[in-house]
Amino acid sequence: MLAKLLNRGVQIRRFSAAGAVSLEGYGQHLFKGAVAAPYLKKVGLPDNTLDGHKWTTDGNADKVAAAVLEWAKDNGASVYCHWFQPLGSAGVRHGQTGQVQNTMMEFQKDGKPVWDFKGKNILKGETDGSSYPNGGLRATHRAGGYLSVDPTSPIFLRGDTIFIPACLSSYYGHALDEKTPLLRASDALSKEGVRLLNLLGFKGVKSLGANIGLEQEFFFVPRDEYLRRMDLQLAGRTVLGRMPPRGQEMSDHYMAPPSLASLPLQCMQAIQEECFKLGIPLRTRHREVAPGQYEFAPLFGSVTTQIDQNLMVMQIIEEMAQNYNLAALLHEKPFQGVNGSGKHNNWSIATDNGTNLLNVGQLAKNSGSTEIFPVIMAAIVKAVRENGDLMRMAIASPGNDFRLGACEAPPAIVSVYLGDDMTKYLESYMKGENKPYVPGSKLLDMGCSVIAPVEVPSEDRNRTSPFPYGGHRFEFRAVGSSQNVSIVNTVLATITAKAFKDFSNAIEKGQKPRDVAIKALKESFHVVFNGNGYDPANQEMLTKTGCWRIDSGVDAMCRITDPKNIKLFEEMKIFSADECKARQSVMLSHYIGTVEIEVNCMIDMIQQHILPSCVNGDIGPIEALRGAVDTLKKDLSAIHHAGDEKEKAKLSRTLRLETMIQIRTICDEAEAVCPAELWTIPSYKDLLFIDQSSKPASFY
Ligand code: ADP
Ligand code: MG
Repeated sequence: MLAKLLNRGVQIRRFSAAGAVSLEGYGQHLFKGAVAAPYLKKVGLPDNTLDGHKWTTDGNADKVAAAVLEWAKDNGASVYCHWFQPLGSAGVRHGQTGQVQNTMMEFQKDGKPVWDFKGKNILKGETDGSSYPNGGLRATHRAGGYLSVDPTSPIFLRGDTIFIPACLSSYYGHALDEKTPLLRASDALSKEGVRLLNLLGFKGVKSLGANIGLEQEFFFVPRDEYLRRMDLQLAGRTVLGRMPPRGQEMSDHYMAPPSLASLPLQCMQAIQEECFKLGIPLRTRHREVAPGQYEFAPLFGSVTTQIDQNLMVMQIIEEMAQNYNLAALLHEKPFQGVNGSGKHNNWSIATDNGTNLLNVGQLAKNSGSTEIFPVIMAAIVKAVRENGDLMRMAIASPGNDFRLGACEAPPAIVSVYLGDDMTKYLESYMKGENKPYVPGSKLLDMGCSVIAPVEVPSEDRNRTSPFPYGGHRFEFRAVGSSQNVSIVNTVLATITAKAFKDFSNAIEKGQKPRDVAIKALKESFHVVFNGNGYDPANQEMLTKTGCWRIDSGVDAMCRITDPKNIKLFEEMKIFSADECKARQSVMLSHYIGTVEIEVNCMIDMIQQHILPSCVNGDIGPIEALRGAVDTLKKDLSAIHHAGDEKEKAKLSRTLRLETMIQIRTICDEAEAVCPAELWTIPSYKDLLFIDQSSKPASFY
């Protein structure tokens, strides 16, 4: 049996219960730290050359290239590429990145190859990429796209290829990718943060950056069944499918033991192993609440590296799944009736000397002042109040339409959870009182003599807030699982930098920092909400008090070109007006394209599967199904003939969230009555319960 499956290319790792483990090999495929040091030394460069970005401009790039080439050769790599992040990639492009792979050798006149990899090969590249979505920023006949190395994210290797993280821009310097604006926003955050900290008396801070940790949720489904579902393969989600008798009603899957007898655990081990080689600190793995749903979380780190690594994690999850006879679904809502997947964006800001501005104790100790923390909190609360619409825009992915506002609760309303202690502290601060914020803790007594009481934070967690404060970080919980979170972090950095800037301007004009912070808190405190965000009464209350609430993902996307936001992005030097318009256009066409794929899958599945099944069995809503196909075709044609992108996107949204949902009930009705042997589409039961429905790992 083993040989048979291996012949089919399924690579199964034998699960070994015992044996030595070691930490060796971690990060061996990342050109950084101890791995890079000997190669840098050989070419006469100090160990820490790659920690900053000076090597890209100080004439040392050729030496760095020579070091990378030696490392590549030692590791069996002879190919390199600039690795960049085109727009509109979520859910459609494998790995969500772009790359053209080139050899690290030249071919001489006599045809003989010689090694040739210079500084210029690392620093920049050019791509004739007219086909990348660019929102009109680049005419097809002027297709040049320019790649520049991003020195904030380390070079790595996979297989025979060296990957050089890079930014993509047009001939005119317009950002054509996800990363460039993030780097611009990181600059703005650093500049305005340092300026404010200086004014607040925290001297010696040279730079500031965001740290993030991304909790990645996803589903595993059996690959054999996946291969028989066009919607999963092409659209990433099921456009129809009846709920089986069991779902997540008992939350029995949540943090359940991954079975040693089935494939997902072995696949997760292999994913982790691959990530460790790349120096990706994938720390946590567990089952999530929906059947078939899993999560990985890394140790947090610098925002650009984390995002690059998250893209690689998503790619590896998909690739490894294939090796383990599974399919990984990164979509936000692959199944109706059970939870979808998110990617919590844990976010904090730290100085170059490692002080976390959201850690009250650390900030007070390192700055020698207790007056800075409330000012930082006030700036963030103000940023959420003023620009919550942009936070909503940043999470407006097609898949998230099913989670936010529409089906999975409230985060379409942008409020912020601070917890009772912090709220009380800021309330007393607003009254001009001088009580310090000391995060409380309490002893939890389990009530049994043998268990020692444990100390826990007195603040509980809040799972219904889109943006809760959790001690030393905010957690943007509404982010979608399939997203490249660059835009999310671009927005967080931009709106925080803007609040810092406003504060600094006021302080430089002579206002006291405390007065500035109190004024901002008073104007913004209605966005602080510690209650249950899933409760409709609370949602109504938050809407009335003026929190940003944008239920439609399409409307949220269009916020990027609102005059307030264009002004903000221009002022902070993140996007020009043209870049904002281009991004909106890319988001809308990504949305329209996604819906078109979904509708066409539904039409094909009804015509090729559901109707023949029902006709064969002479059972089910045959006429209604025929009518449904006509409706879908008619609505799709209306979209094709609609005026502009915004109109098309609005019609697409109605089609998928209203018409398609009605039509799926007809399909699911057919599934309910059709004899199982006539039903040709894998059911939710086949897809969601791997442990129950799949062959054991030992079969392989
Ligand atoms: P939970 O699901 O309980 O929130 P996890 O451990 O699954 O916790 O994920 C929390 C994520 O937050 C991890 O990636 C972790 O590294 C990250 N994190 C922790 N502290 C910070 C911080 N100060 N800044 C940014 N991210 C953080
Ligand atoms: Mg978690």
